[in-house]
Amino acid sequence: MDITSNKLYKTKAFIDGAWVNKVSTFSVTNPFDNSLIANVADCDRQDCKHAIDKAFEAFQKWSKFTAGKRSKILKKWYQLQLENVDTLARLLTLEQGKPLAEAVGEVRYGASFVEWFAEEAKRIYGDVIPGHMKDKRITVIKQPVGVVGAITPWNFPSAMITRKVAPALAAGCTVVLKPSELTPLSALALAQLAEEAGFPPGVFNIITAKNPKPIGEELTTNKKVKKISFTGSTAIGKLLLEKSAAQVKKVSLELGGNAPFIVFEDADIDAAVEGCMISKFRNAGQTCICTNRIFLQESIHEEFVDKLSKKIEQLQVGNGLDTATHVGPMINESAVVKDENLLLDATSKGAEIRIGGTRLDGLFFSPTLVCKVNPSMDISKQEIFGPIAAVYTFKTEEEVITLANDTDYGLASYFYGRDYARIWRVAEALEYGMVGINSGMISTNVAPFGGVKQSGFGREGSKYGIEDYLNVKYMCWGGVV
Ligand code: ADP
Repeated sequence: MDITSNKLYKTKAFIDGAWVNKVSTFSVTNPFDNSLIANVADCDRQDCKHAIDKAFEAFQKWSKFTAGKRSKILKKWYQLQLENVDTLARLLTLEQGKPLAEAVGEVRYGASFVEWFAEEAKRIYGDVIPGHMKDKRITVIKQPVGVVGAITPWNFPSAMITRKVAPALAAGCTVVLKPSELTPLSALALAQLAEEAGFPPGVFNIITAKNPKPIGEELTTNKKVKKISFTGSTAIGKLLLEKSAAQVKKVSLELGGNAPFIVFEDADIDAAVEGCMISKFRNAGQTCICTNRIFLQESIHEEFVDKLSKKIEQLQVGNGLDTATHVGPMINESAVVKDENLLLDATSKGAEIRIGGTRLDGLFFSPTLVCKVNPSMDISKQEIFGPIAAVYTFKTEEEVITLANDTDYGLASYFYGRDYARIWRVAEALEYGMVGINSGMISTNVAPFGGVKQSGFGREGSKYGIEDYLNVKYMCWGGVV
């Protein structure tokens, strides 16, 4: 299949319902073999400002649509995503590298947020509160915040977009989105389907740009933008938060993680190994909820490591388009070098590599198991964002809780065990926004995804996800006598 002749292969920016060409372009390459996939419009700050103006105009109308009308268009967008899942997934694998089966999973997962928020659009309820005085009545309504500036990363080029855009549009907001410069094609394909679904011009705009700085600058300083929603690194999240402070913009941040994966001695070890594989090696370890630190209670250490080793040895590394592949390439050279350095530091401080540990040709890193890791090593403080399983041991529950919480991050955490009282204690003690209990898979549109501490704030998905795009207003009615 020649992707370039597909209607979902778009290389222009999408502003005010029109596909916008730019003389200047930037290249998008396949991380598998560095081949060129597309030259995409390189927008500048002026284009971003123009898109914001158009989104602002569109907001005046879109926010007045009935919830039912907004819902219908979102539903149509959802259906179109499902109808085109194969093409969307192929594009995603080409620009991002993940195995095709994972790409299909991501597109379906991403679409599920559109369906969910199409339904939630109709449930933006207010309140009637008993008045504080005899002649007073109090009512509460929720209103869309306005134009939303969204910035998304490369690791989930499709789902990170729908998780923000669907609740925003459902709430009655309009959006200017800047996708990652590494993976803009999935975003543009979603825009093509949004156009077909019938969103009015200006409701959903995409600014593609090689240099994210001026775009971020415009989104955070333009007064017409009322909210910034960002998924990406903690460093850039802090920068955007700082810039948004000048206008006290509403902000949602989904930033880095340092997920602990704890296995207690009473756990179902086979299930724990299974959960560990999923939470560690999905997307070649490049997700913000990937297991970063595996804590094993001493008595089950050997059994767990043996079983995990056997699974890791079976992983096939290769082209995401090849159905035999479990682990695709990493996104770029610096990601590979970072993991090499993390292992060098760890082994210099006493860690032992059991499997893998080396880079392979191209942007591949061999699935790795490293044991005897301790908190003094960089690998325990930084997001690995690669296919490296790092194993620690612990003796007691108290000890492992302290170790698990000893990080600036607080996104996902996981643990396996059977004692129900301990399950409650540990789940409550973990300083994380999400806890997987006997489960390595926690992402779903029906639950609130998000973090605490330096992993950010705001929630995506579930009934909570739409709140980030709404302002609460109360009306105090006097003179009711
Ligand atoms: P990652 O390490 O996952 O690439 P980044 O935080 O660098 O995370 O990138 C996530 C998103 O933030 C991307 O869309 C990227 O273009 C964007 N980005 C990076 N730097 C800036 C910036 N200075 N201003 C606005 N957006 C930025």
